[in-house]
Amino acid sequence: MINNKRSEKLFDKAKKIMPGGVNSPVRAFKSVGMNPLFISRGAGSHIWDVDGNEYIDYVMSWGPLILGHSHPDVVDAVKMQVELGTSFGACTELEVEMAEKVVNAVPSCDIVRMVNSGTEATMSAIRLSRGYTGRDIIVKFAGCYHGHSDSLLIKAGSGALTFGSPDSKGVTKETAKDTIIARYNDVKMIEDIFLNFGDKIAGVIVEPVAGNMGTVKPKEEFLKALRELTKKYEALLIFDEVMSGFRVSYASAQGLYGIIPDLTTLGKIIGGGLPVGAYGGREDIMRMISPDGPVYQAGTLSGNPLAMAAGLMTLNILSKNPELYEEINKKAERLCNGLEESMKQNGIPVTINRVGTMMCMFFNEEPVYDYDTAVKSNTDMYEKYFKEMIKRGIYLPPSQFETFFLSTAHTDIDIEKTIKASFEAAKC
Ligand code: PLP
Repeated sequence: MINNKRSEKLFDKAKKIMPGGVNSPVRAFKSVGMNPLFISRGAGSHIWDVDGNEYIDYVMSWGPLILGHSHPDVVDAVKMQVELGTSFGACTELEVEMAEKVVNAVPSCDIVRMVNSGTEATMSAIRLSRGYTGRDIIVKFAGCYHGHSDSLLIKAGSGALTFGSPDSKGVTKETAKDTIIARYNDVKMIEDIFLNFGDKIAGVIVEPVAGNMGTVKPKEEFLKALRELTKKYEALLIFDEVMSGFRVSYASAQGLYGIIPDLTTLGKIIGGGLPVGAYGGREDIMRMISPDGPVYQAGTLSGNPLAMAAGLMTLNILSKNPELYEEINKKAERLCNGLEESMKQNGIPVTINRVGTMMCMFFNEEPVYDYDTAVKSNTDMYEKYFKEMIKRGIYLPPSQFETFFLSTAHTDIDIEKTIKASFEAAKC
């Protein structure tokens, strides 16, 4: 057993004064039947908890840290900006540089607006799609998570999926009735939805690589069908690339698959580990946003200089070193193969899905391609595995329905240690 006395003490205190003792549900470790560890620092691919235990981290703050924890150049960029001022609520050069970076990298983005979180980005993109089309209905896919705004918290994945409460209390029936839930990767179903409601649909929002029901790859024909149908019925296609953006490739999932949406939401990596979000897209649509147009959206800390400094440095490093993607993808492939082998050799059914450095190990014999197949996974087995791995210094996502992330800081030694731990865990 690990010594986690200080974490336990902090959690006891936190539970008294914070909901569930946490600021975001999955951090409570409920899905793996443990109390959470309190993290005190990170460097590269490793984190340390308040009791001094060291772990190889595969959560990486849920995706933003593609360069690892405390990358020295990112730290320096933030330090420099702190000295100059943390927020002005006025225009800065950094914002323009960030917009240029995004517009040059992400094919669908002619224009981009910065916000403070992925939730804000998707919420604003939904409002914009309704404002632009003059229609109300949004289509989303079961198991995809787009943050916690009301119209998107309908049968959502991530924490809500984990805790088995897909419809949050507090979301009105009126809001829910404007959101249609479809099955991921099911072309027939989305065709039927358009046949029935085509002239009422404002937009279809999708994670082009799903990461919030574990990792689920899009079938080629699925994204293509979404593009064709939305075009035909004059609805907007919104790619939620908060997780996949700048991760599955520098041009994001849309660059990888060659399917260009009308709007794109971003977050995570573009903030380099600081709070951020963004939405961008075709010029005629984006010109509808205030102060150019009638769709209102604003933010006191939007385009925050610290987040821009961290994000810009991260994007600069990624754009100047394109080989980094190939290198980490290879490491991710090696890790997947090793983890798969560790289970196979011990007769444990497993399906591993991976797109680049997004991956998930489902304790599930069948292929996982949508929400229904994902939830067939053996969550008790995942809990057992998680506990065995954490004892061995491997910090995995504390839920079966989340994605493992690799960074450029993960070393071959980290990968070997993780595979070795997995072989040991599989025997327990
Ligand atoms: N969209 C996707 C695809 C996400 O994975 C997330 C968060 O994990 C969000 C939106 C919400 O982002 P945030 O947690 O920054 O509000």
